[in-house]
Amino acid sequence: MNKFKAIKDDQLYLLPPSIEDFVPASHLARVIDEIVEGLDTSSIEERYSEIGQKSYHPKILLKLLIYGYSTGVVSGRKMATKCESDTAYMFLASMYRPDFRTINDFRKDNAEYFKKCFVDVIKVCQQLQMVRVGTIAFDSTKILANVSAKNTKDKAGYEQWLIEIDQQIQRIITRAEEVNHQEDKEHGNLRGDELPKELRQKERLKSKIQQVLTRIKEAEKINLTDNDAHIMKDKTGFNYSYNCQAGTTLDGIIVSAFATTSAGDKVQLLPLIEQTEQNTNEKITNALADSGYASYQVYERLEEKNITAYIPDQQYNQQEKRNADLFDRSNFTYDEQNDTYICPQGKELHFERVYQNKKKHQKSRLYSTSECLTCPLKSQCTKGNKRYINRELREPLREKVRQRLNTPEGKALYRKRMQTIEPIWGNLKENKKIRRFNLRGKEKVNAEFLLHCLSHNITKIYKHKTAA
Ligand code: SF4
Repeated sequence: MNKFKAIKDDQLYLLPPSIEDFVPASHLARVIDEIVEGLDTSSIEERYSEIGQKSYHPKILLKLLIYGYSTGVVSGRKMATKCESDTAYMFLASMYRPDFRTINDFRKDNAEYFKKCFVDVIKVCQQLQMVRVGTIAFDSTKILANVSAKNTKDKAGYEQWLIEIDQQIQRIITRAEEVNHQEDKEHGNLRGDELPKELRQKERLKSKIQQVLTRIKEAEKINLTDNDAHIMKDKTGFNYSYNCQAGTTLDGIIVSAFATTSAGDKVQLLPLIEQTEQNTNEKITNALADSGYASYQVYERLEEKNITAYIPDQQYNQQEKRNADLFDRSNFTYDEQNDTYICPQGKELHFERVYQNKKKHQKSRLYSTSECLTCPLKSQCTKGNKRYINRELREPLREKVRQRLNTPEGKALYRKRMQTIEPIWGNLKENKKIRRFNLRGKEKVNAEFLLHCLSHNITKIYKHKTAA
């Protein structure tokens, strides 16, 4: 009895099998294929010339990139290799085998298109009723820049490097002239106008350094490989990174995103809100974000825009610890009716004057009492003659947010922030192992980040469709 199924490597088929037969109907590649076919890529298409060799259709390259980014493959080389052996890639590439340079160049050259593509995919999610804009959770993560840290120097460092390269170039030229002279003697008719490879590389490096020197400021440090990348602190220490910002719906659809060179989050919330409303054409009612985004200016602008903030200030989480210190500002109770503060000794602090902190763009009302002069607890309360309590003019906004966050509804809604946006970063960094960008420069890195985000949204569409 034959125990095994027949080996069919030379079997002839009545009808040759199609690549379609090897990709199941419920495969992610099918959803990507369908979505990309519906996208408008005319802005890319019109840049191709009708003269010369035919190019791969932009939709093919876009499908490969989205499938790669959805499954954690971001290397153009790996995508090109998979087009030869992975049926999903072969299906998306219509059985073509684009070279890795073609894939890489397409990704590099279409930064502007990826912004449009990100918005178009959000619109697809809206058509499928997957987007509820009311409450949006905002967060950020640092992703490493594609740089070598040893290529970071200050102005003096680059000037010194330039001198060294000039010396190296001079040595290469002298050596080449000697060789030419020798070869002329031997062969008599050698072309002497070709730059040695080593010299071309040095000249390229020199020109890069000269470019950096035109923009570097005194005491500033710039990385030669990615001039836009900045040193930022993350969980592992200080690294050249980009600060990646995003806003998501409670269903986990990313509705706003950009990568920035500024490490702080405070100034990013308002642009994120603006982008969310533009991308979705809908109004945000609740904004959830961690304390890194909190500032009086943010509270003020959200109030003006009629958006309810669930954003704790930097001291909110230290309330308990601070309350334990009897003389902490939190133990001075504000009496709104009389516009006074009551200190731990039960004394009233009255309004004295307005104080302006120009650097922080803050104006505060200062409160004090002459009772401090005779107070037995003075040495524990203040080092000065009397204790001052300052009340920022926008303090009521902060108090309102704190009160809101202290309610059970506020706590429950704030918890949803962690359940929606933080898993997205986890998936990107832990499951897909994306810790570093492939592209360099602000514009291109932003495009690559959008590629990650739109691929995430397409995966959500895939799950939505397969669950239906
Ligand atoms: S030093 Fe002044 S503010 Fe502090 S406890 Fe005494 S009276 Fe109150």
